[in-house]
Amino acid sequence: MGMNERVKALNQAPVRHGAEYVLYWTQMNRRADSNHALLRAAEWANSLELPLLVYEGLTCSYPFANRRLHTFILEGVPEQARRFAALGAGYCFYLRRTRQDPDDILYRLAAKAAVVVTDDYPVFVAAKHNASAPAKLDVLYEAVESSCVVAISAFTKREYAAYTIRPKIHRIWQRYLSPLPEVKLTRRWTVPPPEFHTEVTAANIASLVASCEIDHSVAPSISYTGGRLAAEATLRHFLNNNLRRYARERNEPAAHATSDSSPYLHFGQISALEIALAARSHAAEHSLVADEFIEELIVRRELAFNYARFASPPDSFAHLPDWNRKTLTDHDSDPRSPVYGYEEFAAASTHDPLWNACQNELLLRGKIHGYYRMYWGKKIIEWSRSHQDALETMVRLHDIYALDGRDPNTYTNILWCFGLHDRPWQERPIFGMVRYMSYEGMKRKTGVDAYLREIAHLQQSGCDPFRLKTEV
Ligand SMILES: Cc1cc2nc3c(=O)[nH]c(=O)nc-3n(C[C@H](O)[C@H](O)[C@H](O)COP(=O)(O)OP(=O)(O)OC[C@H]3O[C@@H](n4cnc5c(N)ncnc54)[C@H](O)[C@@H]3O)c2cc1C
Repeated sequence: MGMNERVKALNQAPVRHGAEYVLYWTQMNRRADSNHALLRAAEWANSLELPLLVYEGLTCSYPFANRRLHTFILEGVPEQARRFAALGAGYCFYLRRTRQDPDDILYRLAAKAAVVVTDDYPVFVAAKHNASAPAKLDVLYEAVESSCVVAISAFTKREYAAYTIRPKIHRIWQRYLSPLPEVKLTRRWTVPPPEFHTEVTAANIASLVASCEIDHSVAPSISYTGGRLAAEATLRHFLNNNLRRYARERNEPAAHATSDSSPYLHFGQISALEIALAARSHAAEHSLVADEFIEELIVRRELAFNYARFASPPDSFAHLPDWNRKTLTDHDSDPRSPVYGYEEFAAASTHDPLWNACQNELLLRGKIHGYYRMYWGKKIIEWSRSHQDALETMVRLHDIYALDGRDPNTYTNILWCFGLHDRPWQERPIFGMVRYMSYEGMKRKTGVDAYLREIAHLQQSGCDPFRLKTEV
């Protein structure tokens, strides 16, 4: 598929003559494989006969920077460094540990670059950088979208729901479902990395994290190791053990039938395209059906990116359809009992053992099983002082604890709990016509007791028997 629909020039500055390299600033697609932005940067490098420098940064100053998120990102760095070097690109990883450390590395590197290419991403800090950096540069700045299988620009307006985007995706996705070409660089990077490069190895990650001015109270996930090798191992494990069970058992948390790919997708350590292609070919080879999985990975995920692209800021009721906003307003002052505030939710100290288990899963693993995550969200609505309070609690808990948080999927799915992309249901207190979920319903449909036992075990042992053994 053509590259141009994924590329946006975000300023009018020219290509610099006499430059030393082309710069690829990897913000959200932290990978050397299956990356449209990297390919675009390589095209520039080859056509200008320059080497390519990849810049990856991690700063102590982004909102909610903490030990869990830092560890996961740093675990990806050694393999990224190896793979970029194998391509013949330069690689500079800058860890900004304290607020006194320089925070203008992008500008220093861009001063010697012919072109700056980066990732196009609709939310959180990458969206802010892409709004503010280009005007400050005197060199062409391009943002390339490589998060989704079907380019998000293929949808020119906000879609109403899955049923409106699904036929559009199905009409065109065959065009997108083929592997990206290999990156081939004609000029190799031959000099040492720039001086502010930080060497990251499996052995120094803990001490690097310890040296950063971040929130150290949020412990690393007990379940997920960051990085390309872990992303690949997680995908292999899913294909070999779970894809065949996915359609039947994905809503049963204790069955562990889902892919656990969301943390890796969020940080771009693997692409949705790679996962979709691997699932399709595994399914073809073993006479399985991957449709339900592909529906989540492409249709649901791209609906979220479509929402985030057109709804700014994404965590606002302002974007809900009229029926939905009205029914929430009508019921916003309904009495609630019990009522909890952020701290009680964060500490998993409600009266409901299932809700507490979901929250403990978030605290320990860094993500909640997809089906129970809906219940988790619905109950926060039921037990918060107001709808706005509930929204803020959900977003903040994701910002801090979720490895896959701060993502288009985060805001879209949190707002789904309030009715986005859903339909009206029978009116009831607090929720109005927004879909409700009950403890009895969860018990009837799923193995709540098995889940409670599993999470209690995680809490007691502090380790996860489902953790895959992967190296950094
Ligand atoms: C309140 C609430 C908050 C959520 N917050 C997040 C979040 O912060 N980040 C996040 O990635 N997902 C979020 N989800 C959606 C979903 O729960 C997760 O994507 C899923 O649980 C991730 O686990 P998995 O990779 O094993 O999923 P699988 O079932 O294996 O699905 C594969 C991939 O498909 C995509 N996907 C699955 N379900 C959805 C969905 N409903 N909408 C969009 N894409 C989907 C994800 O990228 C996922 O990794 C949230 C859902 C709810 C109800």
